[in-house]
Amino acid sequence: MNTTFVPLAPNATTAPVIERVETLLIDVPTIRPHKLSVATMNGQTLMLVKVHCSDGIVGIGEGTTIGGLSYGAESPEGMKLAIDTYFQPAMVGQDATRIQILMARIGKRIKENRFAKCAIETALLDAHGKRLGLPVSELLGGRVRSRLSVAWTLASGDTATDIAEAEKMLDLRRHRIFKLKIGARAPREDIAHVAAIKRALGDRGAVRVDVNMAWSETEAAYGMAALADAGCELVEQPVASAAALTRLVRRFPIALMADESLQGPETAFELAKVSGADVFAIKIEQSGGLFNAQRVAAIADAAGIELYGGTMLEGAVGTAASAHAFSTFANLQWGTELFGPLLLTEEILATPLEYGDFELAVPEGPGLGIALDDDRVKFFLRDGPRKTVSAAR
Ligand SMILES: [Mg+2]
Repeated sequence: MNTTFVPLAPNATTAPVIERVETLLIDVPTIRPHKLSVATMNGQTLMLVKVHCSDGIVGIGEGTTIGGLSYGAESPEGMKLAIDTYFQPAMVGQDATRIQILMARIGKRIKENRFAKCAIETALLDAHGKRLGLPVSELLGGRVRSRLSVAWTLASGDTATDIAEAEKMLDLRRHRIFKLKIGARAPREDIAHVAAIKRALGDRGAVRVDVNMAWSETEAAYGMAALADAGCELVEQPVASAAALTRLVRRFPIALMADESLQGPETAFELAKVSGADVFAIKIEQSGGLFNAQRVAAIADAAGIELYGGTMLEGAVGTAASAHAFSTFANLQWGTELFGPLLLTEEILATPLEYGDFELAVPEGPGLGIALDDDRVKFFLRDGPRKTVSAAR
C-alpha cells in the first residue's frame, strides 16, 4: 500500500484502480419478530459488497432492505445480481480514488438502484478512507458530532411486551426514545396501544409512531389528533402520498415526518417546495448514497425542515456508514434510529459498534472504522455452513 497520498489526475497510470467487486448474501436472525404494517421480519438479509483495489485495499459496503421486497423495488438478491452483472463492469479498471467521478459514471449507465449505489459508494469511501488514514466522516467534510442519540423501535405487536422491552432499554440506558410501528391494526386499537405505552413510560421516554403509509387520509386525520392527545410527539409517514402529507402537516399539535416519500434529492426538493413535512427521515440507502444523503439534508435545512437519521434496519456496515454521514449534518434535531445491529442475534464485526448512554459512538478509525469478522460472515453466508434462509422468510 502507498504510504503517501499524492493527488492524481483521473486515469493517471499510478492511481490505484478497482480490480474486482465481490458480493455476499448473509442471513442473520432477529432477536424477536419485528412487526411492521408492511412485513413481519424474523431475520435480516445483508448484501455485503467488497471492492478490491490494486493497492491491496478492500472497501466494504452494505445493501439491506426491509422484508425483502416489502418496502421498495430493491431486494438483497436483486442488488447482488445488479452489482455482479452491471456495476462491476462499469467499475473494473477505474481510478478508485475518484469516487464522485466513478459514481457519476455508474449513474449514467445504471438508472435507479439507489440501494445498490449506496452499497457501492460506501465501499469506495471505506477503501479511500483506509488509503488516506481518515474516517469516512472526514471525507464527507468532517463530523460535527461524535455521538448520535439512538431511538429504539418497539414492534413486538403486543402492548405488555413492548412496555417491558422499553423498561429494559431505559434500565440499560440504551434508549429513551421509542418508535412504535403501527398501522397493521385498526387505528382505534393502535391508538390505545400507543397511549398505554406512553402512560407507562411517562416523562422517562419519548414516544413516536411510524405508520409506514398504512392509513388513508381520513384515518390519518383522526389518528394524528388522537396521537397528539396520547402524548405522542411525532408521526412518521402516516399516508403514502406526498400530496396527502402536505394536506395533513401543521393541522395537529404533533410533528409529521416524511420517510418513504423521500427517495433522493429530487423528491426531497419537491416535498420541501410545498412544505410537505416538519421533519425528514434521511436514509443513506433511500437517498442513493452518502453524498446524496448530505444533499437531502441541505435541502431540508434550506426549507426549514428538521432532520432525523433513519435506518433500513441495516447491519453493522450500513449502520456505521449512516453514522458517518449523519455525523456531518449541520442539524439533526430528532436524533437517529441507528439500532439495526442490535436487532440481530449475531455480531459480524471483529469489534462491535459502541452503544451506551442512549447513544451510538461514530467510529473513529480510517474508512468506516470497522472490520468484519470473516469467520462469522462465512458462517452466515446464504450458501454457507449454516442455512437460515427458510427461517428468515
Ligand atoms: Mg419509517
